[in-house]
Amino acid sequence: MSANRDQYIYLDNAATTKVYIKAADEALKYYTGDFYNPSAMYACALDVKNDIEAASARLAKLTGALADEMVFTSGATEANNYALECGFKNKKGTLVISGGEHASVYEKAMQMKSSGIPVIIVPLDGDGAVDAAKLTDSVNENTALVSVIHASNETGALNDIKDLCAKVKAKNPNTIFHSDGVQAAFKSGFDFDSSDIDLYSISAHKVGGLKGVGALLIKRGFNMRPFITGGGQQNNRRSGTENVGGIISFAAAAEEFSTAAAKFSAHDVRQFLIDQITGQLDFVTVNGHKKNTGYILSLSFYGLKGEVLAHMLEKKGLLVGLGSACATHSKQPRVLMQMGLKPKQLQGSIRISFCPETKLEDIKYAAKEIIAAAKELKGIIDG
Ligand code: PMP
Repeated sequence: MSANRDQYIYLDNAATTKVYIKAADEALKYYTGDFYNPSAMYACALDVKNDIEAASARLAKLTGALADEMVFTSGATEANNYALECGFKNKKGTLVISGGEHASVYEKAMQMKSSGIPVIIVPLDGDGAVDAAKLTDSVNENTALVSVIHASNETGALNDIKDLCAKVKAKNPNTIFHSDGVQAAFKSGFDFDSSDIDLYSISAHKVGGLKGVGALLIKRGFNMRPFITGGGQQNNRRSGTENVGGIISFAAAAEEFSTAAAKFSAHDVRQFLIDQITGQLDFVTVNGHKKNTGYILSLSFYGLKGEVLAHMLEKKGLLVGLGSACATHSKQPRVLMQMGLKPKQLQGSIRISFCPETKLEDIKYAAKEIIAAAKELKGIIDG
């Protein structure tokens, strides 16, 4: 079968998700009807401003935060850059990140390093989580900021960020703790205010919202200087006319996603696929297995080329990812390398990721086609 676009089985939800109709409808309303600038003085503009505030409250409710802790950004890339740049106060001290960070944290840290800031990268364990003992060891009285991803975008491996934050703050209470929550938020029942975490990044398009909108949760009382300056919107924390449709539809999407996620057994779906594939193939390994969101399955097919496998699957109507979509630009599977994969495993890696709407029949089809394609490719390579 050569699939036409409506027939694809989409299993690359860690890259982006299909927008919920309800979210798209809600956004549309603010483009065609209530299109006013929320900073204008007239009543209909004030209504829009109030709707943004309501969206903050709706999102805050779902993340265990307060409405005034939500600062909207152009996505999680900006939120992560903002967290590192402005959370790292006075440009003094050391920056500590995990080896499993998304490029928007990692590359920002590298930029800060080249401007003279000492950066420590804490290694991952073989399961893709940060080594907790090594992280704590790397913290001292000079540590200004620690950033640890909540769930890996490459493997779905979970870090216990509440516990890690508590350990970091026990060693140095002045250290700022940031976490990139993009792949965990609205899936894990995370509660921002029951932790000491200072900063937490989220993104709309991973949960059925629009691309180009995200937020940084900033703990109340934490005085962050702005990253983007200008007209003083969002209480001067992030200037620029708000992405009204994006922000309000983010709230609608997150509500729909959270409700659907509560009914979706991601772990069962993931385990079913693992059992099917590992039951048939002896040259496949699962990366980031132990503690996982359940939404991402990273597989390495020893000796195969992940790209070739993904193209074969596309021809069968199945869309999967390669490592992370953002990482494909750099061509370096940095996170999987950190986990100690062998070169022949690294090359043969694909990422399969689910959403609450993923159907078991699609997973059954995926298992069948992945097994068939991997066997075919292995046969060609082994001659
Ligand atoms: N962090 C993680 C873990 C991600 O998966 C992504 C998206 N690939 C980002 C940050 C960047 O988010 P955005 O696309 O909203 O800039």
